[in-house]
Amino acid sequence: MTRTLTSGATVYGYPRQGADRRLKKATEAYWAGRADADALLAAARELRSSRWTELRDAGLDEIPSNDFSLYDHVLDTAWLLGAVPERHAGAAEGLDRYFAMARGTADVAPLEMTKWFDTNYHCLVPELGPGTTFALDPAKPLAEFAEALAEGVLTRPVVLGPISFLLLAKDPTGTAGFRPLDLLDRLLPHYADLLGQLRAAGAEWVQLDEPALVTDQPADVLARVARTYAALAAEPVRPKILVASYFDRLGDALPVLAQTPVEGVAVDFTGPAAANLDHLSAIGGVRDKRLVAGVVDGRNIWAADLTAALDTLGTLDGLAGSLDVSASCSLLHVPLDTTPERDLDAEVASWLSFARQKLDEIVTLRRGLTDGREVVADALATNAARLASRAASPITRVPAVRDRLVADTRRDSPYAIRRQAQQAKLGLPELPTTTIGSFPQTTELRRARAALRKGALTEDAYEEAMRAEIRAVIADQEELGLDVLVHGEPERTDMVQYFAEQLDGFLATRHGWVQSYGTRYVRPPIIAGDVSRPAPMTVAWSTYAASLTSRPVKGMLTGPVTMLAWSFVRDDQPEAETARQVALALRDEVTDLEAAGIAVIQVDEPALRETLPLRAADRAGYLAWAVTAFKLATSGARDETQIHTHMCYAEFGDVLQAIIDMDADVISLEAARSNMAIVADLTTAGYPNEVGPGVWDIHSPRVPSVAEITAHLRAATAAFPADRLWVNPDCGLKTRGYPEVRATLANLVTATARLRSQP
Ligand code: GLN
Ligand code: ZN
Repeated sequence: MTRTLTSGATVYGYPRQGADRRLKKATEAYWAGRADADALLAAARELRSSRWTELRDAGLDEIPSNDFSLYDHVLDTAWLLGAVPERHAGAAEGLDRYFAMARGTADVAPLEMTKWFDTNYHCLVPELGPGTTFALDPAKPLAEFAEALAEGVLTRPVVLGPISFLLLAKDPTGTAGFRPLDLLDRLLPHYADLLGQLRAAGAEWVQLDEPALVTDQPADVLARVARTYAALAAEPVRPKILVASYFDRLGDALPVLAQTPVEGVAVDFTGPAAANLDHLSAIGGVRDKRLVAGVVDGRNIWAADLTAALDTLGTLDGLAGSLDVSASCSLLHVPLDTTPERDLDAEVASWLSFARQKLDEIVTLRRGLTDGREVVADALATNAARLASRAASPITRVPAVRDRLVADTRRDSPYAIRRQAQQAKLGLPELPTTTIGSFPQTTELRRARAALRKGALTEDAYEEAMRAEIRAVIADQEELGLDVLVHGEPERTDMVQYFAEQLDGFLATRHGWVQSYGTRYVRPPIIAGDVSRPAPMTVAWSTYAASLTSRPVKGMLTGPVTMLAWSFVRDDQPEAETARQVALALRDEVTDLEAAGIAVIQVDEPALRETLPLRAADRAGYLAWAVTAFKLATSGARDETQIHTHMCYAEFGDVLQAIIDMDADVISLEAARSNMAIVADLTTAGYPNEVGPGVWDIHSPRVPSVAEITAHLRAATAAFPADRLWVNPDCGLKTRGYPEVRATLANLVTATARLRSQP
């Protein structure tokens, strides 16, 4: 087949970290005062330079710049536009001002953080009020563009687009009737100015990221999109504009973008965004525009099906003026390279594709597209063999897991009956007090773990160190007078990793770091195959804790939705099926805990709400399997076993009904910062079971007074029946220190006692 299309290979962004998380180390050395600003900037510059070389050598035709960041690209955009809150401008200069916005200082709070759409990356939230004025500071994009050009690489600068920037922002003044999007007209001249300066520096293309366009947007916002890009396109001196979308389908925004006078549009064709394909052909394509097709999944770690991707690219023929191959989104969301993963079985490793491997996939696809499949026949054959090896592997399909019958997802009896059985068994006072699970992770605990890893501590000695911690935590709680105790989770570094390490079907990487925010990186486990539980995971710790006290001790598990949300999930079956398998493994753990005498079991689902699909139309389907998985994990418990769950938010609007449907006997929630507002919402929604609205915002070491906690409790009892209320902090205490934990829990117990005696 002969093609008239010109085609290139590109990506929207690449991991910033460098090998061995070099950027993290350089940044933290600067923060700690071990290195000066020049050293940090030099390290960053070197990193960028090696990234350009790496991308060029991989064979990309167009390479992005300004996707690099010392902390976060949304923060960079606020900085670029001069949207620096006064408190930060007053607090520090230059680089320190930038980091003050990111992390705060001793005197001023940082910008808030939020999830970057439905990824596990967190960005900062720009603060834009009615009085905000912008002032362009284009030094960073210009410098990075010039650096690359000096090395012979003509890059495409990447900048967060004006619509997404404004939609991500929040108004700190809370002015009625104002929303940051109202600042659009004030903002656009600065984007226009930036475009002019990039063009003057030699940029031929600029990429304006507009991921907000894949979320549901009303007509007035779409009208602003049209107006924005008409205005920017009308600028006489500017690079060609590529508007990039990713993470989901464009929906109503697609025809809007197709009609704007910009020169290029980037569209995601993976996962739920595959719907873009039919939609694009239905509207007759993007005419003579450049179409960048995201056909390689940019946020998961599986080798792409190259033949299928070529088929997808083939269907785009005729729908655009030119067609580029790319990943579905920036490669920021996957680890850097599979090559150093020497602990992984070589066959299993061949199924994986991290950022570096995705470059090869993209370049192969570009060659297949322009030069014909014969030219890349070898690569396609290797790829097909890898996919076949994965499909046929005994890891991928375990008949015993697949054949396991789905149990009834309902408890034996409705809540009202369970409640009586639980009251009889537990004999708890009114307004029972408890905590969310973890106690402070002390330096000694971390030291013991490091020593175990290095072989300086035997397994037995390590376990004894954990038991000593459990003894101390139980003794503390008894002394404080809490009603339902926890063992404190000292043995867990991470609530997902701890279980992933013990479940069959999960893989761990050694170097698979992904940026979570700033210098914080996580190594998500990989769900590679069918999941099962070879042996009990928590029973020994929980029963040990229970043996030390006559009070009930809560067993502590991580729920199926959260296990999936903070892992890389297999892409060869629906997530609902993977969640079912994890849920059944947890169900076995619940049964074993119960048989071992644990009468209260908490199954945490902090990720339930954050995993909500971006498009409202997809939410009911997601919530259905999420709720089913939770119930599958917990419904094997007898009536008298009390099931708790925990979530870390204060706003539940779209998931309230799902929370009711989960039918946990008790749910603990974040509530302190919002002054118990959630309690009224639960009342309105008719929440029928028990709830523990958090009375301590654990994000700060501040100790709330007895009066403050009493006020929270009075607000809660005023809005919700007191006989179904619990008293607990907002979340786990692992990031806190013992002084504030003891002081606050003492106040919490005192406040509760006061309320019990004077309701
Ligand atoms: N049980 C966990 C803890 O206390 C819950 C953590 C969370 O909600 N993220 O640490
Ligand atoms: Zn929490």
